[in-house]
Amino acid sequence: MEILQSILEKNPCYRAGKKIKVGGLMLHSVGCPQPSAEVFVRKWNQAEASRACVHAFIDGNTGRVYQTLPWDHRAWHCGSGTNGSGNNTHIGVEMCEPACIKYAGGAGFTCFDTETALAVVRRTYEAAVELFAFLCRKYELDPLADGVIISHKEGHERKIASGHADPEHLWSGLGCGYTMQGFREAVKAAMEGQPAQEAQQKAAEAQGASEEPAKTQENCRQPAASAEMHISDRGVELVAGFEGCRLEAYKCPAGVWTIGYGHTAGVNPGDRLGSQEEARALLKKDLEQYGGYVNTCVRKGLISFALTQNQFDALTSFCYNCGNGNLQKLVSGRDAAVIAEKLPAYNKGGGKVLPGLVRRREAERALFLTP
Ligand SMILES: [Zn+2]
Repeated sequence: MEILQSILEKNPCYRAGKKIKVGGLMLHSVGCPQPSAEVFVRKWNQAEASRACVHAFIDGNTGRVYQTLPWDHRAWHCGSGTNGSGNNTHIGVEMCEPACIKYAGGAGFTCFDTETALAVVRRTYEAAVELFAFLCRKYELDPLADGVIISHKEGHERKIASGHADPEHLWSGLGCGYTMQGFREAVKAAMEGQPAQEAQQKAAEAQGASEEPAKTQENCRQPAASAEMHISDRGVELVAGFEGCRLEAYKCPAGVWTIGYGHTAGVNPGDRLGSQEEARALLKKDLEQYGGYVNTCVRKGLISFALTQNQFDALTSFCYNCGNGNLQKLVSGRDAAVIAEKLPAYNKGGGKVLPGLVRRREAERALFLTP
């Protein structure tokens, strides 16, 4: 974990100079489509900054932590409620949000690049797990104890914070399955030296038995493993036909380093793939993960008919493009005919029908209907 010192010395909150006894950690999400922590650091390091100040921002493009106040400084991050203010007890950390979402008033938003959004959310989540594990160790906090690690939303429910919904609104809006309970468990596991990813996997398996879809921890990165269907070469072909391929690492419009067919995990500036085949193999690996979400739908009974390979491939392509939340919505309780009929409706980005999405849905539908 990388922590950059960016103390907001000009912010009136820093200047107020009050200290707290750290009793907990509150997780926030910035509530606007801005992945760059530096933008916030610049904006908030001003004498006239609105009366808000937090301890750290997590950058959406790099996962880097920008520490903006000394950890035991009293920040202005959560307002208050009838039981007091979390500002007196909790460190406040903001996760930056993807550029490819658009707020529609309140906590509702639309997302026009699910793949990129999920990559950003995953990056900030994993960095937050590490940071919170570090802070729990530093202040000898038990991450699973009541009220120690909470979200802004939970702070509001406990009446120690203003009425915000972050960051759960972002996770549930993108359908990525993260929950605060899963987060706390991941922090606990990280403190025990387990990589965050494994911890989430464990949480996913532990909750696999639950029948309640909303409570499952299918995290963004890895669906629970099982011996199930896999995408075929035909499915990979279909997706490849709709995703541009570049062998050299580049920054996508949302500022995320990308290579091959939209691959984002672990990509660094200057990275290069040797061939189209290598890019294809990387895509197939990424698609395996999304095929896992389709398998999960089957396991949970959201899909109750036996999928053909073509149907599986079509749904995997759909999930890769539209995300797990939309996949669940598309298939839940429906038979194959209804799914095929509803597929073309997912053709909008930013509220507008996009020709590329119309063509892609048509191709997926055709494959889905091919015996
Ligand atoms: Zn907040």
